[in-house]
Amino acid sequence: MNTGLLIALVAIVSIAVGAGVTFLIFTLIRRTEESDRALTAPLPGGVIELLNVLEVPAIILDPSQNVVATSPGAVALGLVNNDRLARPELIELADDLRDAPTDISRDLEVARGFGEATMTLSARASRFGSKYTLLLIADKTEFRRLEEVRRDFVANISHELKTPIGAVSLLAEALQEAADDPELVKKFADRLSNEAARLARITREIIDLSRLQIEGAMSNNELISIDAVVAKAVDQNKVVALAKAVDLAVGGIEHAHVYGNETQLVMAVNNLISNAVQYSPPASRVGIGVAARDGLVEIAVTDQGIGMTPEESERVFERFYRTDQARSRSTGGTGLGLSIVKHTVANHGGEVKVWSRPGSGSTFTLRLPDAANASEESDS
Ligand code: ADP
Repeated sequence: MNTGLLIALVAIVSIAVGAGVTFLIFTLIRRTEESDRALTAPLPGGVIELLNVLEVPAIILDPSQNVVATSPGAVALGLVNNDRLARPELIELADDLRDAPTDISRDLEVARGFGEATMTLSARASRFGSKYTLLLIADKTEFRRLEEVRRDFVANISHELKTPIGAVSLLAEALQEAADDPELVKKFADRLSNEAARLARITREIIDLSRLQIEGAMSNNELISIDAVVAKAVDQNKVVALAKAVDLAVGGIEHAHVYGNETQLVMAVNNLISNAVQYSPPASRVGIGVAARDGLVEIAVTDQGIGMTPEESERVFERFYRTDQARSRSTGGTGLGLSIVKHTVANHGGEVKVWSRPGSGSTFTLRLPDAANASEESDS
């Protein structure tokens, strides 16, 4: 073959290959453009408006996982950031939907913000139209928290009841064996009645606490005289205080009123006074002072007793919490009294605070909305 022919052949082959490659590139570009057009196809009418009024967190993604629409709830939970999903767990869920034959539902534990706190989400990924993905999310964090509280409560109750129940059955056995010794019988019988009283107290307080939680915020509020609440609560503690020579001194303003439930308020103030007496040395003083400021009625119960460390003060309102000192003194406390106080004031729209120092004493302060203030507001 001569050189001319060879060159001509090479030229023809090069042109053919070039044309082929060019055609291929054009086809590819056209396909990408077509699919891009399909991707950016608008969402069905009304979808964005619907998401805007939807309370449930919901997110719509395009095939490249760009967020094309969200409900305000999804934004509020911090699930979307700059038109992208802000949580890797949600990206993975949307990715997995590509290969899944049907919708996927998953419980996810995702970061709440930048700290360590997490939230429990129940998320469902579904195909939406031919191109989009719909993520529907339910925030189950509060539900899970309540479940944990309930589980702890049940565990605590069983633990707290086991000790006195065990003691009762042991003492009953001991009584049987000591039948011929009247002194031992009396000793065991005394301890038996102590344990029975303790069981009765725990049961009563558990019922009180459960009732307070069920009743929730006050519905039929009555006008309650704080003078009467304090007088009744003081009265309930007179005998024990007298036995310890503890002086119960009432002071401060008179004629204050709040809206609420008298039985519950007396129980709360009674719990504070009985603690003050219980954790005070003999012949000391417990002060019960009433004040009104900034639209609130304050009832402060102050003692000169054993006091608490800041760590203990922080935990005293937890159910069944007792400080080590209180435990070792085996005061017969249940650790429920202050939980009852906390729930009562919460039901009344108020708060309870504690100041305490080991060896110096404690002050528990209840703050409740002043009824005088409420009537002024409704008058104006
Ligand atoms: P309890 O029935 O054990 O008194 P509470 O819930 O009323 O249960 O109190 C929880 C714990 O807080 C007590 O066990 C005690 O350790 C501590 N506490 C409560 N009141 C006082 C007080 N006035 N002074 C010192 N410690 C207190």
